[in-house]
Order: sequence, then C-alpha cells, then structure tokens
Amino acid sequence: MDNVDNVLDLAKRRGLFWPSYEIYGGVGGLYDLGHIGVRVKNKIVSLWRRLFIEDHSDLIVEIETPIITPKRVLEASGHVQNFTDPVVECLNCHRVFRADHLVEGALHTSAEGLSTKELTSLIVSKGLKCPQCGGQLGEVRTFNLLFSTTIGPYSGDVGFLRPETAQGMFTSFKRVFVSAREKLPLGIAQVGRVARNEISPRQGLLRMREFTIMEMEFFIDPIKQAEPPLHRVNEERLNVLSADAKVKGDRPSQYKVEELLIEKIVIHPWMAYWMAISNRFVTNIGVQPDSTYFEEKLPQERAHYSSQTFDQLVILGEDKIEISGHAYRSDYDLKNHMKLSGEDMTVFRRFDQPKIIRNKKIQIKSRDKALSSALMEFLKGKSSEEVEAAIRDGKSVGGVQLGELVTVESVEEKVSGEKFIPHVIEPSFGAERCLYVAVLAAYREREGRTVLSLPVNISPYHVAVFPLLSKDEMENKALRIAEMLRGKFEVLYDSSGSIGKRYARVDEIGVPFAVTIDGDTMKDGTVTIRDRDSWSQIRVKESELMETLNKLFNGEKLERLGIPVKGDR
Ligand code: AMP
Repeated sequence: MDNVDNVLDLAKRRGLFWPSYEIYGGVGGLYDLGHIGVRVKNKIVSLWRRLFIEDHSDLIVEIETPIITPKRVLEASGHVQNFTDPVVECLNCHRVFRADHLVEGALHTSAEGLSTKELTSLIVSKGLKCPQCGGQLGEVRTFNLLFSTTIGPYSGDVGFLRPETAQGMFTSFKRVFVSAREKLPLGIAQVGRVARNEISPRQGLLRMREFTIMEMEFFIDPIKQAEPPLHRVNEERLNVLSADAKVKGDRPSQYKVEELLIEKIVIHPWMAYWMAISNRFVTNIGVQPDSTYFEEKLPQERAHYSSQTFDQLVILGEDKIEISGHAYRSDYDLKNHMKLSGEDMTVFRRFDQPKIIRNKKIQIKSRDKALSSALMEFLKGKSSEEVEAAIRDGKSVGGVQLGELVTVESVEEKVSGEKFIPHVIEPSFGAERCLYVAVLAAYREREGRTVLSLPVNISPYHVAVFPLLSKDEMENKALRIAEMLRGKFEVLYDSSGSIGKRYARVDEIGVPFAVTIDGDTMKDGTVTIRDRDSWSQIRVKESELMETLNKLFNGEKLERLGIPVKGDR
C-alpha cells in the first residue's frame, strides 16, 4: 500500500486513530479511535446493521453478550485447545516471531495451516535465520491467543476475554430461538469488542489485539431449509477463487450467485447469499467491485470448526487485506455445547406427513418390588440396544437373570417430526479493519492536498457550514443555517482560520459538502455549496438549501443544481 504512511499521519493529525497509551510509548496492537474515527466507524457499523439485520429483520435479531467468558465455554468451542498460532524464538536475541509469517516472508510461498513440525523442518532445510539479528531460530511451537483472567476473587475460576462474539450467540441460542422466532432460519447478530493476543500486530488497524467484530450466526436446518431471496442479489457479481482454482494457481473468476451454487463452488445457498450481501457492504464502504474477491480456504487453512470457509479480500496497492470471513460452522459449536453443558440444543423438524417408525422399547416384566430399585438403577441411561445386549450376555440383577425381568420389544409408533441440531453459517467482519480499508480506499492527493473521498453514507459529517468571515452578523446567520440543517443532516460548524484552510480540513476528514455564508448571503440570501471531490461550487438560495442537499445526497450532480461560482478552493 503506497499511501500507508500518509494515511497513518493523516489519521493521527485529523482524529481518526492513533496508538493507545502514546504517552507511555504505546502498546502494539492497541489503538484509540479519535472523534472522527468514531463517527466513521459508527457509520460503518450502522451500514452493516442495515444491510445484514434491518434488511432481513424477519429473520435476524441482534443480541449482546459478555466479553468475559468462562473457560468451560471456550473449552467446548475448542478455542482453549486450538486457538493458536505458530511461533518461533530466536535463540540469540530471543525475539519471538509468527513462524508461518516468517517463512512466508522469506520464501514467498503460503505457509498457512502448516504444522509446527512442517514449519520447523522448512526453517531448518532452507536455513532461515532471525530477521532481526540473523541468529539461529529454535523449534516452532504453538502460542494460544486467548487473553486469560480470573472471574471474581477465586483464582481457580479461570475466564478469558472472548476472541469472537460467536460463542455468546451459541450458548444463548435456545433462549433466543424460543423468545424470538421458534423457526429456522434464524440469524443472531452481535457487534462487540473481542480480544486476541496477536503475536505480531501489524501497522494501523489491520491486526489489533482488541477490536470490534460484527458477526452473525445464521442457524439453518441442514436438510430442509427455505431458500434465500436470491432475487435481491441478482445484480451482484462476486469475484471468487475456489479451492480448486487456487491449487491450480488460477486467478479469481466472476460469478453470479446462482452460478456459485450450480457449479457447487459454495456449499449452501445461504452462504452464497451472505457473501453477496457482504460484497454489497464492502463496495458500499468505498471499495471498487474489482478490488475485492472471495478466496476459499484449503482444508489445512480452515479454522478448527469450519467445513467450508471463504475469506473476503480487498486489494489495495500491493497488499491484500482480509476484510471478512465466511465459515460454514456446521453443528460443531452447538453439538459441543450440548455435550459439555448437558443442555438440549436441538430444535424440532416436523415431517410433511407423520411417519410410522419401529422403535425398540424396554418392557418391565417383573413385579417384584424388592428388585425394582436395583433394576431401575441398572437401566438408568441405557438404550434399548444396550439392554438387549445385556440380556444376550446373560447379565443378572439382584441375582435374577435380566431376561426374566425385562424384555425389549419392537413397537410401531406414529411420529410427527424429529429433533436435530441446527447448522450455522457465519459472516464475520472486523469493524476497525473496515474503517482502515475505507480510509485507504478513499485516500487521494490533489495538487499537494489530501482528500478523503469517503462514500457519503460513511462520511463523518454530511455537511460543513462556514461563515466566510468572523463578523457577528455572518456568524449568526451561519449558526442559524447550521441549526436548520441539523434537523436533517449531521453538521460540522467551523468559523476558525481562513476559508481555504477550513475547506482543506474538511476535505481531509471526508465531509462531502461545505456550505459557506458570505457577503452575498447578507444581501441576496444565497449561499455557496462546495463539492469535496471536484472542488466545484454553486450558489443557491438559502430557502432551497435543504432541498438541494437532499438532491446531492440522492446522487444528483452539483453543477446541475445551482449557478456555478468561482470561489476559494
Ligand atoms: P476471524 O474470526 O479470524 O475470521 O476474523 C473475522 C474478521 O475480523 C476478519 O475478517 C477481520 O476483518 C477481523 N479481524 C480478525 N483479526 C483481527 C485483528 N487482529 N485486528 C483487527 N481485525 C481483525
């Protein structure tokens, strides 16, 4: 990315983001968002909520669950065992590196998903050395990325900061299912902070140790599920690199959503549907459609819970940034939570027609009261098949042959449905990574000045209002106009410094339009509107300002909406 340094400088200067705890030297991977960064991030989150939740409010609900997570939950999810990255230590300077990244950097080949053994042998066979001091590297080992803590004053009560919001949605799935919809598909969404003890945080907001995730767990019936509304995404064209194409060394190809399904590139229609919505979201934050694609992960590259995963990547200059992950998590999480908690996580699937099925049932023959409690104890938790086997093996209870106490009979039963564990499709975005990508994609330089051409739906303010001079009557007028516009728009009022400097400042933070109140306003009631990207200006009547801005936000061209004027740029 050619502009990274300039963007990082702009971000600090203009209140987008900067390293946290700067006065103490900063901490890798921790970032503050400034007053402009927070506004843009909130807009990004709102856009995500609109496209994923509000546009599907018949199917999707949002919840909030805690960051602090008991160990049991993350044991069930596999994170305590598997949420690791490979690390290697320099035996000379004792710096620790992410082993796969070190190998990738040195050999220019993907090392994602290689085992610690494979990485160690690559390091040895290729003679790789410490990138800092040239020293010898040790054995590759795994490092768990969970931040741990204790819950309350009992040191035995271990907890972790959640590395994803997903587990909160899984553990409360049954409660949400019953209280919200009692029907699949059901999407449970959450926007919240997560923490990952990343080994090598990268520049800017790319790899942070604490960030906001926007995630949805979409619960489906794996056998029989209502189809997604594919007509809504007819227009989307997705660039996709399937696992097969990746292995062959091909480039991504363009597909309609239905083609992805016909060609069986994506394993479930709902997964393809959410990928299309994600594509729309990413282009809505300012990424060009041909600068984003979905790359399927190879089996060894996938997370421990996933049976198919696509990463959505954004190409910026030389770099590819993963902006979202799309995982088919199957019933992995619910099944494991059911096992560990003992709670029923199943839902009921009604058959089209009731079915007659044959079931084996245990029938008690003995009426001997003295034996009954021993018999009950023996039968507890045993299936009819296990009891049948025990009879065959000649087991006895209380000195009596089991076969004389019980029989296992085959009976016909009419059943209207069956229980099953829902499967889950998960699209997941990092909010700060979206912010960073949006800022990088919007960054322009023009005549030695910086312009952040953010799409209007995520710009920090809709419009700036400036009095040309700091004269009372002009300022009062400008304040009244700002007040009027606030009823409908987000307004930045600024009266300090030369008008050129003020235009430059709002260009740098991406405010799409600026309204200036000048001498003519006092005479004829007209104001100027300036466009951030073209620097063109028009003059309109104050009474038509609101309507003109509405038209501008609906995409009409500035030049068509008023009398062109030449003014300060
Ligand atoms: P994952 O659960 O690893 O698939 O991550 C989901 C999304 O969160 C990614 O696609 C990124 O947008 C974002 N993300 C993951 N790790 C980080 C990180 N360390 N810092 C910032 N964003 C991240």
